[in-house]
Amino acid sequence: MTLPLIEAAAHGGPFAVPPNLIVIHSMEAPIKAGLARSLAGPNFFGKPPSAGGPGTSVHRLWDPAEGIQGVPNDHIAYHCGAPGNARSEGDEHCGYTAYSRAQWITPDGLAMLRRSATHIASRCAERGIPVRWLSLAQVAKAADTRRPQDGGLCTHNDIAQALGGTTHTDPGAGFPYDLYLGYARDATGGDVPLTDTDKAWITGALNQATNRAVSARYDTGAATIREFLKSWPAARAALNPQALASAVATALPAGSSQLTAADIEAALLAVLGDAPEAGTDGSG
Ligand SMILES: [Zn+2]
Repeated sequence: MTLPLIEAAAHGGPFAVPPNLIVIHSMEAPIKAGLARSLAGPNFFGKPPSAGGPGTSVHRLWDPAEGIQGVPNDHIAYHCGAPGNARSEGDEHCGYTAYSRAQWITPDGLAMLRRSATHIASRCAERGIPVRWLSLAQVAKAADTRRPQDGGLCTHNDIAQALGGTTHTDPGAGFPYDLYLGYARDATGGDVPLTDTDKAWITGALNQATNRAVSARYDTGAATIREFLKSWPAARAALNPQALASAVATALPAGSSQLTAADIEAALLAVLGDAPEAGTDGSG
C-alpha cells in the first residue's frame, strides 16, 4: 500500500541493516482528520533544526482520515533515538499519552488505528516481522540479533525502557493494544475472521439486551463486541454462541437507555472471565 509522501528533510539515509521493530507513538495532539498531513514533511516532523524544526521525523503519520509517509521505508527516521532509530520503522498517531482507553476508542480513534494497523501488517509481512507486541526483553533481543523473526511491535516507551536513547513514554497505558493487534492480525488473515453467523448471534445478543430501536447504541455495541472477540481468539474458539449471546444479554444493565462501550466491555469481561492475550509490558 502506497501512502502520499510528504518527505522529511531530517532523516538518516538508508538502513544499513533492515529494521525489525515497528515503534508505535502518539503525537500528543488531538485525534483530528487532517492533522497527519499538517504535521508531515516540512511542517513539523521532518523540519530540520536549521529551519527552526525539531530535527525529528517518522515513517508514517496517522489521523482518522489518512496516513502520510514522512520518510521512505528504506531510510532511517529520527523518531526514537539511538540505537532505536536504526532498528525500526516508526508510526505517529493522533492522541495523547494521557488518554484513557475510552478516549482512544472513539469512532475517529478506531478509524485511525484500524488504518494504521492494517498498514503495519503489510510492513511486517514485507520484512518478515511477526505481528505481535514484544516484551521489553524481546525488544532488547530484537535490537541485539537484528533478525526479522525476533522482531515485532513495540512502543516508544518500550524503546526508552529496553534500549535507552530516548525518554518518551508514549503512547501510554490507555492505548488499546489489544484492538490494535486485532486489526493488524485481521489484515494478515492470522486471526479467525467473524463470519455472518457470528455477526448474526452478536446482533441477537444486543437485540435481547437493548431496545433495538436505538440504532446508534446498537451499532456501537456490535462493533465493540466484535473487537473484543477478535482479541480473544482462544475464548472464541470455545464459545457456544447462543450461550454467550444469552449471557451477555443478562450481564448488561437492565433497561439501560444509555448503553456504553464500557457497559459492553464489562459484560464481556463478566461472561468470558479472561484477559486478552494481546498486551505489552511497556505501555505505562
Ligand atoms: Zn514517541
